[in-house]
Amino acid sequence: MKKLVLASNNAGKVREFQALLQPLGWDVIPQSMLGVSEAEEPHETFVENALAKARHAALHAGLPALADDSGICLAALGGEPGVHSARFAGEPRSDARNNALMLEKLAGIGDRRAHYVCVLVFVRGAADPQPLIAEGEWHGEIVESPQGDGGFGYDPYFWLPQFGMTAAQMSAADKNLHSHRGLACASLLERLRIIG
Ligand code: IMP
Repeated sequence: MKKLVLASNNAGKVREFQALLQPLGWDVIPQSMLGVSEAEEPHETFVENALAKARHAALHAGLPALADDSGICLAALGGEPGVHSARFAGEPRSDARNNALMLEKLAGIGDRRAHYVCVLVFVRGAADPQPLIAEGEWHGEIVESPQGDGGFGYDPYFWLPQFGMTAAQMSAADKNLHSHRGLACASLLERLRIIG
């Protein structure tokens, strides 16, 4: 098995990436198991933050690394909260306060379009001149009242007209199939298969 460090300690993400990458011969090790600290995420774009996290993990673990960055972009707010999605309403991070602030900012605005973004970056080493970058987008619109209790974050307000439900009403399997994260993963797996 080839070893890869995952620049995340989120148990759900670790399990998800292990299941996806094991069949391709990759042993996915969370960075905390290798004593790697969390990297700073100082940038205004998803790709820069994901790259910073991947490089940091590769440098300190001495292994190929995989990192992700994701968030929600609201059309009427010029793409905000974007990379600030997790802490839109400040510290401590709170989904309830983030959602309340989102509704407040959209009050009286007709344009409710929103999309989730996920960027995955794989580097062979800290100095890899050609990182693999995969991106997924999931488009919907923001509704006034929450619906469903699945998912997390902004999901109860993220309405998908083509499915007639919010992301929080969708089964986990369906969400993985259609979501920004699912699409980015599929695209990255394809690229990893090609490089072997
Ligand atoms: P992170 O990339 O795991 O740090 O996620 C960034 C933030 O974006 C999360 O804390 C959520 O607020 C938001 N987010 C990202 N993906 C999703 C999703 O699938 N559903 C709901 N919120 C999400």
